[in-house]
Amino acid sequence: MESMKWDVKVLCLTASVCRRLRATAKRLLWRELCLFRAPRITESLSNGVHSSRMLGGWPSLAKLLFFCGGCNSTRNFVMSRSKPGHFVAESRFSKTSGMSFLMKRCRNDLLFVSDPCEHRLGDQEDDLGVFRGVFRGFRESMTRACLIARQAALEESERCPYCGARVWSMTAAGLVPRKAAKRLGSHDGALEYFVCVNGHLHGTCWLAPLSSDEGEDEEFGTDGTDGTGNSSGDGGDHPTARNGFRYDGFNDRNT
Ligand SMILES: [Zn+2]
Ligand SMILES: [Zn+2]
Repeated sequence: MESMKWDVKVLCLTASVCRRLRATAKRLLWRELCLFRAPRITESLSNGVHSSRMLGGWPSLAKLLFFCGGCNSTRNFVMSRSKPGHFVAESRFSKTSGMSFLMKRCRNDLLFVSDPCEHRLGDQEDDLGVFRGVFRGFRESMTRACLIARQAALEESERCPYCGARVWSMTAAGLVPRKAAKRLGSHDGALEYFVCVNGHLHGTCWLAPLSSDEGEDEEFGTDGTDGTGNSSGDGGDHPTARNGFRYDGFNDRNT
């Protein structure tokens, strides 16, 4: 598997061959894939203990790192049509970006969020940005404590695209900081995101057309970034990574 440079599609095929291989993949290979392809974010999420259990499971984390979940209309975010998910050629996750999605009182939480993946809907509409992220130790996080304290209800019809668990709408819970829209290159209020009970985040936003001063964010530092790479195609949807996070760049192995 090492010689295949941990190709995600090869691993998916391997896991689908038979039950025994699937069990091995579940127990071992997905974790190794995360470590090989995205070592820094994986180290950080697992506190450096590689044998540790991952909240929501290693397969879910692998999917989150290498798969854009696409998007459907939700009750707070309506779009003319839905977009399917797809493997991503390259994603960058950073905790600097994650900070923009945390309310002030939750800023001690550790959250990694990806650049938005651009999806074109039509000439009459702004492009859609699809982003995803993951908390470290979500069960002990202040964000979860806030959701519980506010008695935020879990969504009825929305599920986490990565682990299938139930989710909270951060929009409905009133826990979306204004800096989140700025970070994404979106208008205020033109975004929606969900966090599942295992701490996976997924969301969508309308991307404002680029202007010349777009992209700089002097408010945050450059630490804690991570890149994930994948040689796979994107299922014909041709989304591209938005080039608005130039401070966060470092890439792990790209194949
Ligand atoms: Zn996408
Ligand atoms: Zn989840």
